[in-house]
Amino acid sequence: MNWKIHVYGTRGSFPHPGNEYMDFGGNTSCFYLDCGHHLILDAGSGLSSVKEIYRDSAPVHILLSHVHMDHVIGLFQCRAFFEKKREIHIYSKQRNGESIEEQLRKIVTPPYWPVGFDDFKANLFFHTIEDSFEIGHIHVSVAPSFHPDTSCVFRIEDADNCTGYALDYEAAMDQEGRIASFLQNCDLIIFDGNYIPGDEVYGWGHSTWRDAICIRKKSDSKKILISHYGYHYTDQMLKEQELMAKAEDKHCIFAREGMIIES
Ligand SMILES: [Zn+2]
Ligand SMILES: [Zn+2]
Repeated sequence: MNWKIHVYGTRGSFPHPGNEYMDFGGNTSCFYLDCGHHLILDAGSGLSSVKEIYRDSAPVHILLSHVHMDHVIGLFQCRAFFEKKREIHIYSKQRNGESIEEQLRKIVTPPYWPVGFDDFKANLFFHTIEDSFEIGHIHVSVAPSFHPDTSCVFRIEDADNCTGYALDYEAAMDQEGRIASFLQNCDLIIFDGNYIPGDEVYGWGHSTWRDAICIRKKSDSKKILISHYGYHYTDQMLKEQELMAKAEDKHCIFAREGMIIES
């Protein structure tokens, strides 16, 4: 079975709805990976729109690259968390000596939100991950990103498929090309295009579509999906960038909410 990626959140930093953002979308990072499990990459504001997890009551697995707000804000309002017998697994790294459960309990709690994890009805399991772990037949490897506050780059694979996930990653800081080596031979890489070329802010932990093309070629990966757009980039601006990127590499795809891509 070929995996499919369903795009639910394409923005970085915070949600940005509006008429000028309808084409590419205004929700923050969230992707559903159709791989034989309900696997979700990041819990941005797009999480509340994910439909596939309601087809049945199978466990939901949420991989969090890190706990910056734009990647966890969807945890505040996800209907599955209120389903009594639902199993929900949340995976991420330790930060400042704290497990992922300790990190999230600080945010999803009154007075920041009226409900906390103890109010949810689902069976929640928190997994503080190391360098690799399994979800059924799927193997996930984890590499540290180049991003403030420790983000993760994921390599998710089974016998036939391999998807890379490198949002919130600054290519300019990766002098040795560690992530291109880590993501060798992926079918598809979801990649950080927070800045359009020329707008980069060094040290803020983000990249451009031009960096993406470089990583795709260096890693010998088939396709690269650009996402995590700066919130202020309008559809018009992104369409212009998309044309330029396509001219440089036809395997470079700009993510739009609602898109489904076979990997
Ligand atoms: Zn982000
Ligand atoms: Zn971040």
